[in-house]
Amino acid sequence: MEPCYYSGVDQSHHGAGSGMEPTGITRENLGDALGRALRDLRISVTDRCNFRCSYCMPLDKYEWIDRGEILTFEEITRLSKLFVQLGVEEIRITGGEPLLRHGLENLVAQLAGLEGLKDLSLTTNASLLSEKATALAQAGLKRINVSLDTIHPDKFELMTRRDDLANVLEGLFAAKRYGMNPIKINTVIQRGVNDGDILELVEFSRQHGFWIRFIEYMDVGNANNWVSEKMVSKVEILDRINARYPIKEIGRHDESAPAVNYEFLDGIGNIGVIASVTEPFCAGCTRARLTADGKLVMCLFSDQSCDLKKLIRGGANDETVLASIHSAWSARKDRYSEERLEAMNSGEYRPNRRKKIEMISLGG
Ligand code: SAM
Repeated sequence: MEPCYYSGVDQSHHGAGSGMEPTGITRENLGDALGRALRDLRISVTDRCNFRCSYCMPLDKYEWIDRGEILTFEEITRLSKLFVQLGVEEIRITGGEPLLRHGLENLVAQLAGLEGLKDLSLTTNASLLSEKATALAQAGLKRINVSLDTIHPDKFELMTRRDDLANVLEGLFAAKRYGMNPIKINTVIQRGVNDGDILELVEFSRQHGFWIRFIEYMDVGNANNWVSEKMVSKVEILDRINARYPIKEIGRHDESAPAVNYEFLDGIGNIGVIASVTEPFCAGCTRARLTADGKLVMCLFSDQSCDLKKLIRGGANDETVLASIHSAWSARKDRYSEERLEAMNSGEYRPNRRKKIEMISLGG
């Protein structure tokens, strides 16, 4: 059986074939090449999405994954269990649009029962959430992240190419009714598109008890044709909010959290900013990603992967799979966002010079 191959990375000193036995692999001895632990796993359950957001997947034609290549819930659960054994404490289900995956609540129930897993969440565009919130809550989903970039129907349609704002809002409020907490709104800000909506979104989330996370527009994938001029920096976002609703920094939830959190001085609401472009947090990144077709990817901006589906469908036992994940993680030295900032500062950054996996395949 072929070992899991983390393409582009020299594995001569790691894993299968190098004398390292698969036994004895534990969370304690698993650090990547830069000393970072493996703590979080984002699992994409489908690469299909019912939206066509300009900043994520604007293309109508795309090489979608064949259905037969998509991991089954049993395969995802088996892999998740192994990841937890290696130290993963938090799993987020994502996509594509995860609620397009039929019977997702069954996967939620299987993952929610994993011993050692401390946190399970889901990221969704919420267009189908109102019909699925009960089943998801009953299956054990306690919190949810909803992507929402504007509360103006016309602009919503312009940004997503779908006339679905009413369904999304219905979904948000259904999640609230079913007691999910926290409900976090993720908002990507693009200059000239929705930067004028920042305060309204803050007000909307404060009014309804949703947490809000602003995300700097990133150069993830190649399909969005990212240019730095469209990115609104964390400092600019916060300046606009602070001028109307004074805030104070309270820091990251923990050192590996992407968001820096702030509190409103009037005590109402919860806000954070994810500044991957202007303040990269690679040094604390403990996240791995599993694509819908079972590829393990070490960085949101990577074009390399390790084919775990090939291993498990080839009959590999747990020890072998553990050894492969261990080997791939041990070799990880990605620090893309830090490198991008260095290149931007020296005027050498060319967004589309490097081919990256699209966010829709990778999972956000
Ligand atoms: N369909 C789900 C959703 O809408 O939340 C999950 C997948 S989506 C790819 C996950 C997250 O990635 C969303 O919050 C989305 O806003 C974010 N995202 C996508 N493209 C982005 C980009 N270029 N920059 C920053 N965030 C992005």
